[in-house]
Amino acid sequence: MKRSYFRPNVDKMAPYAPGEQPGPGEKVIKLNTNENPYPPSSMVLEAVRRSAEESLRLYPDPESRRLREAASGAYGFPADWIMAGNGSDELLCMLVRAFVPEGGLVAYPVPTYSLYRTLVQAQGAKARELRWGRDWSLPKGLARRGTRLVFLARPNSPSGTCVPKEEVRALARSLDGVLCIDEAYAEFSDDDCLDLVRESENVIVLRTLSKSFSLAGARVGFAFARPRVLEGLRKVKDSYNLSRMAQAAGAAALQDLAWMRENVERVRRTRARLTERLRRLGLAVPDSQSNFVFARAGERAKELCAELRSRGILVRYFDEPGARDSIRISVGTDAEVDALLAALGELLGCACGSEAGSGGRPAR
Ligand code: PMP
Repeated sequence: MKRSYFRPNVDKMAPYAPGEQPGPGEKVIKLNTNENPYPPSSMVLEAVRRSAEESLRLYPDPESRRLREAASGAYGFPADWIMAGNGSDELLCMLVRAFVPEGGLVAYPVPTYSLYRTLVQAQGAKARELRWGRDWSLPKGLARRGTRLVFLARPNSPSGTCVPKEEVRALARSLDGVLCIDEAYAEFSDDDCLDLVRESENVIVLRTLSKSFSLAGARVGFAFARPRVLEGLRKVKDSYNLSRMAQAAGAAALQDLAWMRENVERVRRTRARLTERLRRLGLAVPDSQSNFVFARAGERAKELCAELRSRGILVRYFDEPGARDSIRISVGTDAEVDALLAALGELLGCACGSEAGSGGRPAR
């Protein structure tokens, strides 16, 4: 291409870098993109099959009404306080399109979900990235005047940590723009901020069915906000943003909350064990409120990830300030986590990650 046809900001930006997805048929232990290791409720498959059989030739409902009714029952909000998105990624994109003008300011603590940066750059807006404080505390300055949008992942990725709810409430009140609380992993944590939506008109909470409901492949997310706010957002939404199958899958999953809760409990139990074992291996791990842990491995972090990859175990490495010394590990099944711990134990030259070595090095 002799000349660029792109907007200068698009020319300059890097694309979003997703975690590696293995090739078809490739057998790996996949602990790199925070998927749920357990299948969704059996009601989901049945609903998807039925929806495909009945009406694939017809467009889906552009407003996802049945899905939103199901969400209303599950989350305890009226359906007109809920908007459905093609994953919460689409909702994040809509927020930037709707609230942030070209050159407008978007703030968020880093390191965090890197899609925020991509969306801001694609919009031609300005990202104000503030490093997390010690122990992943909220940095000062997020509410600077003129900030149109603040992203707060709670729990945050990659750290797995949660900012205390009182601080989130105070942030919402001090902000003259919109606060998006991205609760992609909230079901795995001890509390959530959904009720802040009722308190403040500038708060939008995002949820997804990708993690706790095991539906990453279906792409279903929700935004919770005042109806007036969602009315505005609807103007920038794709016409038929969720397929029929996604809507059917989501509605069915939300009918089977017991299934989701059971899987979340299993993940939380494995998370506790994984955290404890990693600490015994000498790695510092902040207490995680999510379905992944962030283990500080020091200078060898990147190399360890590569070595795990060569053994067929995928974990995530982020080559950016504040994350370069650490590895993010999704909580898999107990067997997957045992395989990871055994490999890490070998690579680190000690057997203290395994059951056999449970008297090993003390935690840091
Ligand atoms: N927010 C955060 C913090 C995430 O880690 C992810 C998962 N990559 C998402 C949002 C997007 O989730 P979804 O699958 O709903 O698009």
